Amino acid sequence: MTAADASALPLPGRDGFAGAFYEACRSGELRFQRCSACGAWRHVPRALCAACGSPAFTWTPSSGRGRVFTYTIVTRAMHPGFAARVPYAPAVIELEEGVRILSEVVDCPVEELRIDLPVVVVFQEVAEGVTLPKFRRAVPAGAGREAGG
Ligand SMILES: [Zn+2]
Repeated sequence: MTAADASALPLPGRDGFAGAFYEACRSGELRFQRCSACGAWRHVPRALCAACGSPAFTWTPSSGRGRVFTYTIVTRAMHPGFAARVPYAPAVIELEEGVRILSEVVDCPVEELRIDLPVVVVFQEVAEGVTLPKFRRAVPAGAGREAGG
């Protein structure tokens, strides 16, 4: 890449609480803040619990399992860093713990995405020192039908 800045992938800010979140990702761990007072999970990282207002929390491991809560298919990139990737599908993943995170399902063609698709976290180093949580299908394509009924 020679036109460095304009076409570079935008990266998340990594100061403060967000920095701790991404440091865990670098270690291959998905961790969310969990309120020490009431047990509520929080994401995005922030100072106070939205449920009870407590500043106390621990970085608590997530199971990494969840489902596609919603998604959209982007066919015209809004940033040059994504131009070569269209079509792609930003997806909101709802983890088992109840928190929702904006990410994407990798190794899944956009036409195969669906609401409630079971997914599991994977980690991708997208720049030196920057690792993002992404998701992949929790079951192989075509093998996900549940018995019964
Ligand atoms: Zn709380």
